[in-house]
Amino acid sequence: MTSVVEQVTSRPDCERRAKWLTVMVLAGTFLAVVAALDPTTVRPGWMAAFVALIGGSAVIAGASWRWGAAWSDRVVMAVVIVLDVLVLSSIVANQDRVSALLNLILLLPPTLFAAVCLPAPLPRWQEGFVVVGAAGVAATIAANSVQWLTLTGLPVIALVGAAETVLAQRRHLDGALASFAQLSMTDPLTGLLNRRGMLARLLGTTGTTNRYCAVLVLDIDHFKTINDLYGHAVGDDVLRAVGQGLLRATRSDDVAVRLGGEEFAVLALNTPAEARILAERLRVSAMQWMAPWSGTISVGGVVVELLNSDELTAELVNCLMEEADRYLYQAKHAGRNRVVLAEHASAVE
Ligand code: GH3
Ligand code: MG
Ligand code: MG
Repeated sequence: MTSVVEQVTSRPDCERRAKWLTVMVLAGTFLAVVAALDPTTVRPGWMAAFVALIGGSAVIAGASWRWGAAWSDRVVMAVVIVLDVLVLSSIVANQDRVSALLNLILLLPPTLFAAVCLPAPLPRWQEGFVVVGAAGVAATIAANSVQWLTLTGLPVIALVGAAETVLAQRRHLDGALASFAQLSMTDPLTGLLNRRGMLARLLGTTGTTNRYCAVLVLDIDHFKTINDLYGHAVGDDVLRAVGQGLLRATRSDDVAVRLGGEEFAVLALNTPAEARILAERLRVSAMQWMAPWSGTISVGGVVVELLNSDELTAELVNCLMEEADRYLYQAKHAGRNRVVLAEHASAVE
């Protein structure tokens, strides 16, 4: 079964990323305009190129504001590199070469932006570009190789150090978020998916080849009596045995879920005939899993045909669950330890 597990990540969404990018490009453009207004700043002969650069970055700021949310990671990365180039050229174009080196600090915002907002390996590409860029501009200023090493090393250590700190924090946060997501989708007693996990796994599954989807709801019969007879802890053992049994008895493509209490579900891309065999097999196997306690289960199920355009949305799955629940009710009333399966709306026992 196709699975689209929710992507839980510390990265900001595309809208927010585009806003940050726009603000950053605008700030860079503004600083460049201020620099261009001072005739002592820009080296003779560099003004035309500098103005073109300002114009270019103003256009990028506008484009980022308007379309930035739809830009791919690589386009955003390209804009970050343009920002780097803007900073580096402001250093090369500056008359006072040594104080211009201070401008290297302006590489910090794009470097941190890449570390926070872009997926691996793009932040490292940015770090590499910044190192090469800083070494390049330092080479145009340094009087000898020792000075070049110092002029390159200091800003590079600061920039790469800051970016790596952010990346390490991000990895830590992503790991924690993934564990929380995993916990929030798993039933702690049986290890099966819970309802939220089931939906996360199912959403996006389509019936591209006219496939069927079977939803089976399974409920342990007279579970309250098992609890009363053997105690709550043994009741938990029974639930674990059924959970483990369901995992063993279903394919990896199927979805086995603990809905809550002593109620479980299995979702499988099965035809009605296959679903009937599966449901019967689970019912019979459940008697073995619960043999020490003479337990049985009842199963209610529904099978729908997924057409090309159909998608397993949360609404559709919940709707099928409700329908399967009604057939489970029928199975209980018909005496328990049995399967009632329906195709579409018509029950076919
Ligand atoms: P039926 O055949 O109609 O399904 O009857 P039943 O006794 O199985 O159903 P009922 O809803 O009357 O009782 C369900 C019991 O399941 C009551 C509740 O205490 C127990 N239960 C729910 N969750 C847990 C759990 O996590 N552990 C244990 N041990 N018992 C649970
Ligand atoms: Mg029950
Ligand atoms: Mg129940």
